[in-house]
Parts: sequence; structure tokens; C-alpha cells
Amino acid sequence: MDKNIKKKIGILCVCINSMYWEFAKAMIESARIHLLANHDVEYMLWTDMPEEVNYGCKIFPTEAVTWPYPTLLRYTLFLQQEEYLKKFDYLMYVDVDMLFVNTVGDEVLGDGLTMAQHPMYALKRGYIPPYEPNPSSSAYIPRFGQISQDENGKTWFDPLYAAGGFQGGTTESFIKAMKAMKRGIDADLSKNYIAIWNDESHWNKYLSEHPPSVVLSPSYVYPDSMIEEYYNKIWGRTYIPRLITLTKKFSVSSEAGEFLRNELKNM
Ligand code: UDP
Repeated sequence: MDKNIKKKIGILCVCINSMYWEFAKAMIESARIHLLANHDVEYMLWTDMPEEVNYGCKIFPTEAVTWPYPTLLRYTLFLQQEEYLKKFDYLMYVDVDMLFVNTVGDEVLGDGLTMAQHPMYALKRGYIPPYEPNPSSSAYIPRFGQISQDENGKTWFDPLYAAGGFQGGTTESFIKAMKAMKRGIDADLSKNYIAIWNDESHWNKYLSEHPPSVVLSPSYVYPDSMIEEYYNKIWGRTYIPRLITLTKKFSVSSEAGEFLRNELKNM
């Protein structure tokens, strides 16, 4: 990508059911400050909010559905506007219950797909199970990951697990991915089945067969809590928060948080 040319970026967001509405305003305001600010960015919201409350976004009115369908059917919704989306150079999806707290710039734009490593599974190297990951070895077992290299030229295999909360790519590659993921989700639904992590499972499956051109660190899906007690320990390092995920009052009770903290103290 030529870094000097302004790109047309389409930001895709789903915001269905009133308890999610409050998140959209803050996320979009923070994105206008921190996200690809040197480009021509348009925000699109598939939502059941009243149309006059649009936060400066292009609104696609959408009917309320219960979880997990707002997240699972995101590609169905986006692809209904395929012709509209084709005017962009890049498409990036952002969960609305997130907040940009630091610059997210051209590093998220590659030649193909962009994924962010899920904070929970961005493990330190010691945690990697010992299957042979190299496709050119006869001991190869297919697993999704990439070969990394340190400053001395030493290489190793890093397993990858992508978060569903921040994803995208060039318009062509992401529309192709969305079509394949929609096919997979619809095929599962026709068998009355939903994958373990909904759309996220299908994103990981697609990426395992179509490697991304950009792999972002957990800085881009950075949890807003338990950093010291939990995540720094899993990561074996710290990351700079850039795009943080917000703990939702309605999905995590204070009792559950307290219980987890006590469990961790005793680990
Ligand atoms: N979402 C929504 N309404 C819902 C549930 C989810 O609009 O009732 C959208 C919203 O953009 C949210 C995304 O789907 O950020 C992902 O869903 P969820 O918050 O359940 O996933 P989590 O962030 O908890 O993994």
C-alpha cells in the first residue's frame, strides 16, 4: 500500500438492542480521534436505534434480534449492502463495546486480510503444545499460526487465534471472506448448529485457509480489566492498549468478578 495516498475506509458496526446503543456513541467518537485519521473514513451502523440518533454515521435500519444473532449474522447484514461497500478501498469491522484509546493507523492496512490476536490466546511461547507445525515436515499436523523470527534469526511456530471484535482487510479480500463465512454460518444453521464462538469461529476457520496479510497484537483487542492479575501473566509481556474491550455490566456481575479474582489469588 502506498502510505501517501488517502484511502477510502468503511467502518462496519452492528448495534442492535437498546443496551448496546450507549456503546456506539463513545466508540465512534474515540475512533474519529484515533482510527486512521489521515484517511477518508465513513462509519456505518446496522442498528435498531431511531434514525435521527445517527452519531454522524450512515444508518442501515435493522430489526432487533436476540443474541447471538446480532453478532452471528453480521456478514449477512453487511453483504445486503455489498454494492454500497464496493466504493471503499478497505473495510474494517469494530465491535461497538470497544473504545479507541491510542493511535490505530496504517499498520492495520495490508494487501489482504487483517486480524487481531485474541488476548486470551496470545500465549507466551512456553505454552505452545508440541505438535509439528511445519507443513514441509512429514510430522506436520495442520494448525493455524505463523513462523516468527527473533533478532538472531531463530525461528519458531506461533499459533494464532483471531478475535472477532476487530477485523477487516482490503474490500475485495474482506467481501470474499464474508461470503465464505456467511456460507459456513448458514450451513451450520441449516443443521441447527452454531459454532462454539459464533462468527469468531468462522473467522478463524477462514483465516486458517487464507492467511492474513496483517496480524495485530492484543493491543488492538485489549481487555479493560484483570491486566496485571491475569493477562500480563498469560502474555508473558505487556502490550500498549490501543483498542480496548469494555466489560459490560449486563454480562459480568460484580460477584463473578470477585470470584475470579479470588480464584486467581489461589493459583
Ligand atoms: N451486538 C449487538 N447487540 C447484541 C449483541 C451484540 O449489537 O445484543 C453486536 C455489538 O456490536 C457487539 C458485537 O455484536 O459489540 C459482539 O457481541 P458481544 O458483545 O456479545 O460479544 P463480546 O464482545 O461479548 O464477545
